[in-house]
This record gives sequence, structure tokens and C-alpha cells, in this order.
Amino acid sequence: MEPLRLVVIGGLNMDLIVQVARLPKPGETVAGDSLLRAPGGKGANQAVAAARMGAAVTMVGRVGRDSFGRELKRSLRDEGVATRFIRVSTGRSTGAALIEVDERAQNSIAVASGANQEVRTEDLPRRAIRSADVVVAALEVPLGTIEEAFRLARSTGVRTVLNVAPAQPVPAALLQLTDVVICNEHELGVMLGQTVGLGAEAEAARALRGFADQVVVVTLGERGALAIDGSRTVEQSAFAVHSVDTTGAGDAFVAGFVCGRWWADGLSAALRVGCAAGALATTTPGAQPAMPRLVAVRALMDA
Ligand code: ADP
Repeated sequence: MEPLRLVVIGGLNMDLIVQVARLPKPGETVAGDSLLRAPGGKGANQAVAAARMGAAVTMVGRVGRDSFGRELKRSLRDEGVATRFIRVSTGRSTGAALIEVDERAQNSIAVASGANQEVRTEDLPRRAIRSADVVVAALEVPLGTIEEAFRLARSTGVRTVLNVAPAQPVPAALLQLTDVVICNEHELGVMLGQTVGLGAEAEAARALRGFADQVVVVTLGERGALAIDGSRTVEQSAFAVHSVDTTGAGDAFVAGFVCGRWWADGLSAALRVGCAAGALATTTPGAQPAMPRLVAVRALMDA
């Protein structure tokens, strides 16, 4: 089978992670262990996860002219991701995320988006987008750039997947260009402008849907994930694993879902691969280092 040709448009950040007993309250200092530094950013994480699951991935994004930027590009290259469309900004530094993780694997994150803000429509590799199978974008880069990328993709029938993370309202024009929307419960609520109650996610996903053929996928952490497609709701429970750090679970899910949909043309198969990848990402600290390989995803699904 031909590998999935995937273009990922999104953020590249250096993640600076500290493990603490509990997350600090405002004004409080909490002592933690040694600093862990790892390549991250939703876009880059998704690119690495998809590459580790066998996709041919091209990353579109920006870094600053600094050591973090060089390190991030190198780590993507080492994973086999094509990096020639990652531009270097002179005015802004490479994105960075300050992440605290507590003993219960809950996290709190502040992001300095830096060069990610400068991904412009001129940066878009038109030919690569038009000849891809799928284009995936997350909201760490300007929405206008994503909109233009999806318009290009749609012009040649390339499927578009929007991961609406980090949480923010999404313009209707962008949703109209999106084949598959992927969000968690919180992001779903922010898009709808209301809190979504436990068990009300499918109904809320339906309310969000922009057009009849659009698939909306909601990840539910330890409860797994669901997708709505036409009048159907497809559900998948989470895989039981020993979680130590949930950072990157959503990114692994996105890549797993997209790859799974490519391998088997069914929504439930895609949800299953997404959930297996998401679960595995929680078993190791950090985001990008925790992105699972295909063999591990297959092994968990077969267990
Ligand atoms: P996000 O990281 O965006 O908040 P979720 O927490 O919903 O996303 O995680 C994405 C997916 O990863 C979930 O749909 C689920 O399948 C899997 N996952 C997340 N946390 C766990 C967990 N503790 N145990 C097993 N699977 C998990």
C-alpha cells in the first residue's frame, strides 16, 4: 500500500517540562525535578507521530533563527519528516511551551508562540498541498493561512483535517473548508461558546457540524473518543494503559486517526487507531518523544 502523503501545517515549539507533586496556584512556587527539554508543538508532534506510523509527511511552519529552531528542524529531519517548507523568521524567536506535570499526569501549559505567528500564505507549498492525500492543521498558526491551505487542498480534492487546538472559536468560513474536525471536550465547548456536559458531547458535536458530510471527532481523555458522521455516532473506549503524562495524547490521536482512516476506510477503525496512539502517548513523559511507533500501536490494538 502506498504511504499516506500528509502535509501538516502547525506549530513547532521547544517544550520545557518540569514534573511537580502538584500544579502551583497563582503566586506559588512549587519545587520540581530536573528540567526535561523536548521538541514539541502540536503540528510538529502530529508530523512525528504520523511519520512513526508510516506516513510520508511534509511539515509547514516557522522557527526563529536560534538554537531551539535548529534543534527542532533537526529532530523532525531525523524522524524522516520533510522540513524544506519550514521557514526561519528573523524577527521572532522559536516557539516555546512551559509545561508543568503533576503526579496525577495532569498538566498546565503556557506557550510563547513566537515564530509560529508568522506562518503566512506565501509560505504555503502549493504543489505539495495540491498533490497530498490529506492536509492537517492545528490552530497554532494564523487562521487565514490555514484557510488558504484548505482552499488549495479542496481545489484538487485533498481531504482537510482541522485540529481545533489550542481552544479558540473558529470562523465559519474555515469550518466550511474542513472535512474532519477533531477537538477535545474543552475545545468543543469553546467553539460552541458553552460548557458541554458529560454525555452531551455527541449532541454538541452535531450542533457544531458545518455541513452534512462533515465528520466531527471529540476526544474524551480516559473515556476514549466519539465521532459523528451523518446520523451515526461512533464510539471508542480508551485503551487501558499506565499513564504518566498526558501531554501529546491529543496529537498522537490526530495522527493515529488520520493514518487509520487511510489504512481502512471506516470511522470506527480510525477512532480505534487514534485511541491506541493517544493512550500510548500518555505512557512516556513529554510530547514528541512519546509519540508511538506503528509496531506499538498495532501491539496495543491486538492485545
Ligand atoms: P487532549 O490531549 O487534546 O486533551 P485527550 O486527553 O482527549 O486529548 O486524549 C486524546 C486521546 O488519547 C483520547 O481520545 C484517548 O483515546 C487517549 N487518552 C488520553 N488520556 C488517556 C488515558 N489516561 N488512558 C488511555 N487513553 C488516553
